[in-house]
Amino acid sequence: MDSRLRGSDPPAHGHSRVGGNLSSSVLESVPKLLKQPLRLFMDMSNYFWDGFQHAVFGGCVAFIFNLVSHTSEIRKREYLVGLVVSSSALFFLPSHITSTRSIIDWFYQFLHYPLADWDILLFGIDWHRFFVTHSLMIPVLLLVLVLHKPGGYYRFCVGLCIGMSSHLVWDALTCSMFTPIVFLNNVIEIRGYLAKGWLLVNGMLLFLFAWFVTQKVHRSRKE
Ligand SMILES: [Zn+2]
Repeated sequence: MDSRLRGSDPPAHGHSRVGGNLSSSVLESVPKLLKQPLRLFMDMSNYFWDGFQHAVFGGCVAFIFNLVSHTSEIRKREYLVGLVVSSSALFFLPSHITSTRSIIDWFYQFLHYPLADWDILLFGIDWHRFFVTHSLMIPVLLLVLVLHKPGGYYRFCVGLCIGMSSHLVWDALTCSMFTPIVFLNNVIEIRGYLAKGWLLVNGMLLFLFAWFVTQKVHRSRKE
C-alpha cells in the first residue's frame, strides 16, 4: 500500500519529490513566527504542494483551451467538476479523515487525489503511473461514450479531458528521470525521456482531441 496514503512521502516517485523540495524552500522563506503554523498545515496533506501546482497548471491549460475553442456552452459547473477531478482533485483537504485505515477513509481518498493517481488507491504505489491512468485512454473513452447526446455528462467529460491533459503535461515537466510509466509492475516499465515523452504526447493529444470534439459539436449545433 502507498506510503503516501499512510502519511509519509514515498521517496522514489516524482510527485512527492517535487512537492517536498518546494515545500521546504517555501518554509525557509517565511518569517520564523509563521513557520510552525505553516508546517502544521502542510503536514495535514503530503499532497498539498503537488496538488497546488497541478491546480494552478490546470487553470492555465483551461484558460488556453478557452481561448482556442468555442467553449462558452460548456463552461458550466459540470465542466469545472471534471476539470478538478482529473487535474488536482481536492488537494487542500487533509490526507485522511480517520486515524485508522477504514473503508470510509479509502473512499474519501478518491476526492483527495486526481483521477490519474487513482492507480495508487486501486493497485498500490508500485503501480504508480500505470499506463492506463497516466494516458488519454480513460477521458477519451468516456467522452466518446457520451458524445451521442451532449449535455451535463458531455461537459463533465470535456473538463475531464482538459484536466487530465494538464495533469499529464505537468507530470512530464516535473517528474524525475527515474519515475516510471508502469505497464506491468517490475516487468515492463519505461523511464527517462521515454516516460516523459509518453506523458507529454498523451497530454497534448488529449488536448487536441477535446478541442476537435468541441469544435465538431459546436458546428453541428449551429447547423
Ligand atoms: Zn500523476
